[in-house]
Amino acid sequence: VKKPKIVVLGAGYAGMMTTKRLTQQFSPEEVDITLVNKHNYHYQTTWLHEVAAGTIDVNRSRIMISDVINTRHVNFVHDTVKQINKDDKTVELENGTLSYDFLVIGLGFEKATFGIPGMEEHAFSIQSVDKSRMIRDHIEYQFSRYRNEQDPDPSMLTIVVGGAGFTGIEFLGELAERIPALCKKYDIPRQDVKIIDIEAMSTILPGFDEDLLSYAKESLEARGIEFKLGTMIKEVKEDRVIVGEDREEIKTDTFVWTGGVQANRIVGESGFELTKGKVNVDATLRTPEQDDVFILGDCAWVMNEETGKPYPPTAQIAIQEADVCAHNIRTLIYGGTLRTFHFDNKGTVASLGGSDAMGTVFEGNKLYGMQAKVMKNVIDDRYLFMLGGPKLVLRKGKFRPF
Ligand code: FAD
Repeated sequence: VKKPKIVVLGAGYAGMMTTKRLTQQFSPEEVDITLVNKHNYHYQTTWLHEVAAGTIDVNRSRIMISDVINTRHVNFVHDTVKQINKDDKTVELENGTLSYDFLVIGLGFEKATFGIPGMEEHAFSIQSVDKSRMIRDHIEYQFSRYRNEQDPDPSMLTIVVGGAGFTGIEFLGELAERIPALCKKYDIPRQDVKIIDIEAMSTILPGFDEDLLSYAKESLEARGIEFKLGTMIKEVKEDRVIVGEDREEIKTDTFVWTGGVQANRIVGESGFELTKGKVNVDATLRTPEQDDVFILGDCAWVMNEETGKPYPPTAQIAIQEADVCAHNIRTLIYGGTLRTFHFDNKGTVASLGGSDAMGTVFEGNKLYGMQAKVMKNVIDDRYLFMLGGPKLVLRKGKFRPF
């Protein structure tokens, strides 16, 4: 009997956890499992704001795939996905082609530019280890340049962040920690550095509890972050951003866009129908047309039936979707009842840099400061434990509060 071929694209939260669950549910004699990723490491996307600000080392945020996935059970292909041909059930890679019986797409997100002129070309985004490391190096280089010029332009030390959602706020928190250290390193007064956040909504962190977002805003403002709320970004140029109805120009050499994500463009280019940049899937996590293709994580548009709104793009959701996906692949092979996705919200905590954080856990309990930071670390360590057991927690974990 031919063994079913399961191909998982992307080793992010969704892809890694699906692969892990598949290896637990099937023996190597039952199925062929292939995991494709463009790097030989998995990275913690939820830590990339720290890499981008330079508050953690790059290597802390990444884990070799062969350290946590049994490569005798899983065929790991270190390659880049180019296109998915769903009609003939193949995937084109940079260096070959794979065929599948079941496909799991976990290729993650890329920046959504909303058609804002210049955003594609001139904005940095916190999107991968490589792109985050470039932000870190770029910021540090600006400090070095500023120090070396006779009459330096203040735009070298003006950092503009677009968006005050979860990623934007967490990145600002890390910048608030990192900038004083860079000032010290390059002998630059702190008041020479400006960090400005531009947000189109009238509030930061839309959807968060009022007390929590006030806490976050005050904590960041106290450390020198300026907010321009209710202000649309109109255009991004190489050396400035143009904002608001009066088209105010803010000169900057560093503009980091955190204002929106969409599915990896490969899914749209492969002919999957998109809703607001993501693939519409049903509660079994498949598109209505393809019953052998699962789409998870930030590539998927999954409706929350209770609220009538789509689930937000979060690691917590991607990880929970992986369980449903692995179960459903087993069901499609051996029969039984397909599971539908229901989100079990364990809470959300945003770090604000250093030992500060805020958020909710266990049905709305609010946490602030050090308590919240400890909880954030527990959440991060729990994921590492699920992926690689206590050894991985010891190597990469955040068991210390700061
Ligand atoms: P990803 O984790 O992005 O993984 C996609 C994988 O696909 C990557 O490994 C990538 O290398 C690979 N890949 C991409 N293109 C190709 C290709 N062409 N070929 C081969 N491989 C490819 N969520 C939370 O729940 N809590 C948080 O605290 C939180 N904090 C965040 C902080 C930041 C700074 C950011 C950016 C996001 C945060 N999120 C958080 C959101 C969360 O990180 C995403 O929702 C989550 O990463 C989505 O998981 P994924 O598996 O869909 O994609």
